[in-house]
Amino acid sequence: MTYDLIVAGGGLANGLIAWRLKLLRPELNVLCLEQQASIGGNHTWSFHDGDLSLAQHRWIVPLVVRRWPCYDVHFPARSRRLSSGYASITSERFAEVIATALGDHLRTGQRLTQVKPDSVSLANGEHFQARAVIDSRGVRNSDRMVLGRQAFLGQLLQLQAPHGLEAPIIMDVRVAQGQGYRFVYVLPFSADTVLVEDTHYVDRQTLSADQLRAHIADYVSEQGWTLAACLREEEGVLPITLAGDFSGFWREAKGQPLSGLRAGLFHCTTGYSLPHAVRLAASCNTTRWRRSRSPQAYGHSHIRPGAANASTGCSIACCFWPGEPRIDGK
Ligand SMILES: Cc1cc2nc3c(=O)[nH]c(=O)nc-3n(C[C@H](O)[C@H](O)[C@H](O)COP(=O)(O)OP(=O)(O)OC[C@H]3O[C@@H](n4cnc5c(N)ncnc54)[C@H](O)[C@@H]3O)c2cc1C
Repeated sequence: MTYDLIVAGGGLANGLIAWRLKLLRPELNVLCLEQQASIGGNHTWSFHDGDLSLAQHRWIVPLVVRRWPCYDVHFPARSRRLSSGYASITSERFAEVIATALGDHLRTGQRLTQVKPDSVSLANGEHFQARAVIDSRGVRNSDRMVLGRQAFLGQLLQLQAPHGLEAPIIMDVRVAQGQGYRFVYVLPFSADTVLVEDTHYVDRQTLSADQLRAHIADYVSEQGWTLAACLREEEGVLPITLAGDFSGFWREAKGQPLSGLRAGLFHCTTGYSLPHAVRLAASCNTTRWRRSRSPQAYGHSHIRPGAANASTGCSIACCFWPGEPRIDGK
């Protein structure tokens, strides 16, 4: 059997593409393959109201676990509250909603060993053909890119008493600095639960998870909060684009359609990719996903290589769609 589309890797970008197509084009034979036991990994993905259009916000409502009407930033000499909405999606909710929607169009526990524009192979020896394959198996290392890192560890904490916060703290720089640039990120999910992330902009990640945990414990104690339990932990080392040979980076993909971090579709100074992932998936909204609506067209129309695009904050684009893509089965 030949699938209309295979999405290789069931993370943020490909999960959204598969979900979008399932909602709008249920007749398409789409297969999502993920190596883990569930899709979406272990993240809290946040975004600003202004990152998405009203229609995009409406579409992803089922994924959103918490919204706030404003957020705070704190620097050593200045603090400010910004009246701009902020929202979070958790991997748990992402997996619950999208895995349910995809049904048997999703196969988890499937490690891909080879991904090509029209076929994939699995570690168990299975091989599938498709009219198109989109590869989104996370960041692709390339000598063509000069990358810094945003390294962080976050803990969802249950406190013994309410924390008193009214809004997220997107950046709290009133903390001891070490190597690189350090700040703490705080999301108050309920009156007595809070996600606290210790974040460092560095050339290379050298701090251990235990050091980052100790920073969080210090921060919690400085706020006068008393810990009841750590409910969950997440960590990441996100790519920050410093410079690169962008055309060379694209050529390395050799015509393979890509999405997500693998496609370079992330904010150049935060490594965040949710807004691009939503916009790319939302572009799958026509009866025929032609070149004008393809990942390649998305990348080229939204991002200018070599310069951080002020409106999108993105530095590179490399979504490829070889030939005339048609996944409408005609
Ligand atoms: C802890 C954390 C928090 C973040 N918070 C935010 C945020 O608040 N806002 C934001 O915009 N961005 C955030 N990001 C950055 C970025 O949005 C995420 O990293 C996002 O998940 C990237 O999406 P993706 O689809 O490119 O890759 P991923 O979501 O990482 O998906 C890749 C998928 O491919 C699978 N895979 C890999 N190899 C194989 C294989 N061989 N076979 C089968 N499957 C495979 C992986 O298991 C994974 O599920 C965060 C990142 C992390 C790590």
